[in-house]
Amino acid sequence: MIIKREPDEMLSYLEDSSNFQKGKSEALYIPEDEKEVIEAIAECADKRIPLTISAGGTGTVGGRIPLEGAILSVEKLNKIISLDKRGKKAILQAGVVIDDFLKILKTQNLFYPPFPTERTAFIGGNVSTNASGEYSYRFGSTRGYVREIKVILSTGETLEIERGKYFADKDRYLPIGDKKIKVPSYITPSIKCSAGYFSQSGMDLIDLFIGSEGTLGMITEVEVKLIPALSSPFIMIIFFKKNEILKFISEVKGDKKLNPLSLEYFDKRSLDFLKKDFPNIPDVSREALYIEQEESENILEEWVKLIEKYEVIDTWISQDRRTYEKLINFRHKLPENINDYFKKIRSTKIALDIAVPQEHFRELFDFYQTLRLNNPRIETVLFGHIGENHLHFNFFPRDEKEREKVAKICEEAIKKGINLGGTISAEHGIGKLKHKYLESMYGKEGVGEMARIKKELDPYCIFGLDNIFPKRLLM
Ligand SMILES: Cc1cc2nc3c(=O)[nH]c(=O)nc-3n(C[C@H](O)[C@H](O)[C@H](O)COP(=O)(O)OP(=O)(O)OC[C@H]3O[C@@H](n4cnc5c(N)ncnc54)[C@H](O)[C@@H]3O)c2cc1C
Repeated sequence: MIIKREPDEMLSYLEDSSNFQKGKSEALYIPEDEKEVIEAIAECADKRIPLTISAGGTGTVGGRIPLEGAILSVEKLNKIISLDKRGKKAILQAGVVIDDFLKILKTQNLFYPPFPTERTAFIGGNVSTNASGEYSYRFGSTRGYVREIKVILSTGETLEIERGKYFADKDRYLPIGDKKIKVPSYITPSIKCSAGYFSQSGMDLIDLFIGSEGTLGMITEVEVKLIPALSSPFIMIIFFKKNEILKFISEVKGDKKLNPLSLEYFDKRSLDFLKKDFPNIPDVSREALYIEQEESENILEEWVKLIEKYEVIDTWISQDRRTYEKLINFRHKLPENINDYFKKIRSTKIALDIAVPQEHFRELFDFYQTLRLNNPRIETVLFGHIGENHLHFNFFPRDEKEREKVAKICEEAIKKGINLGGTISAEHGIGKLKHKYLESMYGKEGVGEMARIKKELDPYCIFGLDNIFPKRLLM
């Protein structure tokens, strides 16, 4: 096993895409097989050294960045253990990079639907954050595609948890090895959600670990479900003149012939961010919708019929592989350009990741517009997965005064989202940045129940400290 102790050698592990800058570590373990993983965990458990698991480092909430103790990097656990074409399933070590996996699947005419936009993420990172993908409008999040996981606890115990095998009983107790653990009393909303430990009546044990952000144990292997490769998709980008996107989307959802893979929103500010890559974006467009769908007979005519009912300024459609690759960047470039801008103006990103049930989305959307109108000096950008009633609302505070203002705006938005039955994190998780919001969602009691579960499964309290809830709750 590679072990590094020099501060310089660990620097790149003290960052992810959150700009969280409080990382500190005394050692970095890079195991090459499961035996070495067990050794590293045993050493940390014996000495009570906090251990933070590090994967692709694309997380946005500082989850892989330790505040103290050691780092366990899964980067060398990157083998595809098996790929069963006929059974449409694969077993992967936790460090398999999603992009590599997708490329191999392509050669086999197979597909892994919940891949996230940032494909340098690892499968273990995706499972631990319950990531949602570019096509989650159609396919849902990672949770729906995980068949089995192997987890190593701080006690040294290895759990092999297969979906469909272990369920909470009527008194809400989940069987785990020779223990029984009580499921929290809060209920995770049945919408796109990655906020805290999953909790529902009769829940499957595997779902407790999916989205647990490295706090319960180290996931070493994941068995995923696959589907046949999709027929070639095409992209449409519609530039709207008036604020009509919500009406347009409700028509899309009501039309059974249209079944897009993604429905993504871009506000005026997002379009400004994309101008340097796409200078032809019409200046007068107020907002745009990005749609991806597989080609099939008459499908384009169906879309054109719908689009013609609206006052649109322009519609771009990919005609071939080359224009598809170009237009896909419309989506990929936006988070990159936003992150570059944050760095340029030396601002720390403050980003909301709220989703609400479909029937309340318009209210949340209008609320966001009101917040912007009431705070015209604060720079913001609003974009994302509008088809799933989930937008990324990012703020760019330039100084301390603006930061305080933004903190208040976020609290208002969070309160609104929760009152509408929503989640404070639809896909990015809580990490070290959103403890307070999680408490607003589930109350002190709910967060306390999460800490209780963590202590039962990780009695030495070494894994992922300060992820999801503050370490002081474990004292
Ligand atoms: C440009 C960009 C686009 C993005 N798009 C999306 C998107 O479309 N959808 C989405 O959901 N997210 C998205 N993200 C966020 C990020 O890609 C996801 O959260 C991803 O799942 C993180 O995976 P990772 O391998 O990078 O994990 P890391 O950032 O390294 O770690 C994330 C968390 O998982 C824990 N962890 C990692 N591996 C394990 C393991 N084996 N066992 C236990 N715990 C572990 C870590 O301790 C940490 O808490 C995006 C990020 C960027 C920068």
